[in-house]
Amino acid sequence: MVSYKDYLKELERIANDDMKKHIDIAPLENERELLDAELAKQNQENNELSVKFNELQNEYRKLKYQHEREENEKEQLERAERYRQQKQENARKAAEKERKAEEERKRIEQSNKWAEQGLCRHCGGKMGGLFTKKCKSCGKES
Ligand SMILES: [Zn+2]
Repeated sequence: MVSYKDYLKELERIANDDMKKHIDIAPLENERELLDAELAKQNQENNELSVKFNELQNEYRKLKYQHEREENEKEQLERAERYRQQKQENARKAAEKERKAEEERKRIEQSNKWAEQGLCRHCGGKMGGLFTKKCKSCGKES
């Protein structure tokens, strides 16, 4: 059986505990506000960094795109240059082949002319010898 006096004591104890809690909580509330402010500041900084990061990323993409475009243009120019050189080389080879064919044609024409005149078909020298005809200049048999 609880007496009235005990009951009051108990109430007083509870009230004191409650008071203590309030007293203890006050600095925590204060600290919470500071932390909230700090958090808000950090959020703001994060947002700013995020914006800056996006800007840098865009700048990077722009530079990368530009670089790739320049590389492509360079490659196309190099390809065009290689093509031009190859074409030039082919033309040179064709001209050389044509020149050699013309030389050979002239050589055969000259050789036939010498043979018709009874001369050495190799050098145009006079032929001699009794049984086998031999060139007096180059010594070759006709
Ligand atoms: Zn000869």
